[in-house]
Amino acid sequence: MQNQLFIGGRFTNAAAGGTIDVLNPHDGGLITAIAAADAADVDLAVQAAQRAFPAWSRMAAADRGRLLLKLADLIDANAEELAQLETLDTGHPIRDTRGLDVPRTAACFRYFGGMADKLLGSVVPVEAGFLNYVRRAPIGVVGQIVPWNFPLMFTSWKLGPALAAGNTVVLKPSELTPLSTLRIAELIAAAGFPDGVVNVVPGYGHTAGQRLAEHPEVGKIAFTGSTATGRRIVEASKGNLKRVQLELGGKGANIVFEDADLDAAINGAAWAIFHNQGQACIAGSRLMLHDKIADAFLERFTALAASIRLGDPRLPDTEMGPLTSAQHRDKVLSYTQIARDQGARVLTGGHAPGGELSTGYYVAPTIVEAKPGDRVAQEEVFGPFVTVLRFGDDEEALSIANATDYGLGSGLWTRDLARAHKMAGAIQAGMCWVNCYKRVNPGSPFGGVGQSGYGREMGFEAMHDYTEARSVWVNVDATVPAHFKR
Ligand code: NAD
Repeated sequence: MQNQLFIGGRFTNAAAGGTIDVLNPHDGGLITAIAAADAADVDLAVQAAQRAFPAWSRMAAADRGRLLLKLADLIDANAEELAQLETLDTGHPIRDTRGLDVPRTAACFRYFGGMADKLLGSVVPVEAGFLNYVRRAPIGVVGQIVPWNFPLMFTSWKLGPALAAGNTVVLKPSELTPLSTLRIAELIAAAGFPDGVVNVVPGYGHTAGQRLAEHPEVGKIAFTGSTATGRRIVEASKGNLKRVQLELGGKGANIVFEDADLDAAINGAAWAIFHNQGQACIAGSRLMLHDKIADAFLERFTALAASIRLGDPRLPDTEMGPLTSAQHRDKVLSYTQIARDQGARVLTGGHAPGGELSTGYYVAPTIVEAKPGDRVAQEEVFGPFVTVLRFGDDEEALSIANATDYGLGSGLWTRDLARAHKMAGAIQAGMCWVNCYKRVNPGSPFGGVGQSGYGREMGFEAMHDYTEARSVWVNVDATVPAHFKR
């Protein structure tokens, strides 16, 4: 199992020799200790990325694409091992890492491999006699900082567009879940990427992350994580005015209207909040129910939640595993009391399961019914914890849905096409799913509004975010008036 930093094409210990223990969320046991990058290691990684940039950015785009396609093939070839590693490190059930995380990671690298030579510049119809064309130039060295909730998949969301566009990268995975990213670093080396094009420096946020965000030679920082840390990143980036892309928290409104297909909506609402133990920025954590169907919906939804198979994530039947860290489990559990203190009703869950799961970081699927202004309806819990809110009509649904600082994912369940389009147009969110939830595709832009951040991952949008428009004016056949004629 790889546990060293990846800098300049070599695996190495941290300069100061620091390490971080990586724990198994299923039982709290030690998996391994990884090298912990600090500021000095980040500096070395940035230097390696700087050295690699000129050749990488000049390489034919199709050749960069070919390397990304090869990486995607290597991920497919090592799919089972990657799924096991991700499950061990994060606690995601193996059926999800096999069925979703690993194939989506390969698909994303493949998409951006194909994209490398498809990003076009443009020719602008300017005044006669001039040719004005616009190139999309890579930014240079890009710093990328990711959280622990989908560590493997995020390597592809972050690296794919950055590399396809011709940037070199220093990537800092979360200190909690670095293992699959280090395995990807090995596959990057095996695919034949030139040394220094990708550097991976797991380490703590306040040391390695902070240095990357403030580094004067880093041209852009792409961050996925909490809104609080996002603010720190913006602060740290101001020294050299680097570009910043932020994918932050969410409080997704998932709205079920009275005309919805209830079977589909109940299942979809469970997927929206309980997949990955609710540790998803786009989770449907505010379940909004029309008064007319709320009671019938909740009866079945609560029964479904209580029947979810919680357990060892390595077992193929497990539907929900542990949360990724003990600290996070405690935070999620603390919201049960916060909910009660404000008068919310706990309909199911709200506790850690006992018995053989008590040594792991497990939380039972939790449903609370609250008021729109309550903390559990406003703050991101980031766990298997859904807050139910009732509404009487479309107008009220919209005003509750938009009464949050966040704006990332959202969902609508209705058979009324006009209502669906109207609501989807008015809801303040980067993504809106109609009669489905949590769909992602490498071609479709992903990102938030408001305090969920700015910039977009995926698709052409991401390629634009990882490039700068460079405008070139050529006097082909124009007589330019002489302003200073002598
Ligand atoms: P976090 O903000 O604590 O950490 C994210 C990353 O930032 C980690 O790698 C961490 O080491 C690093 N970091 C921490 N402090 C730093 C600092 N001062 N300078 C630089 N880097 C620093 O978030 P988390 O708890 O790991 O992840 C959960 C959060 O991520 C949730 O809020 C969730 O909504 C958000 N998230 C957002 C998206 C999205 O696309 N919008 C996707 C997944 C997760």
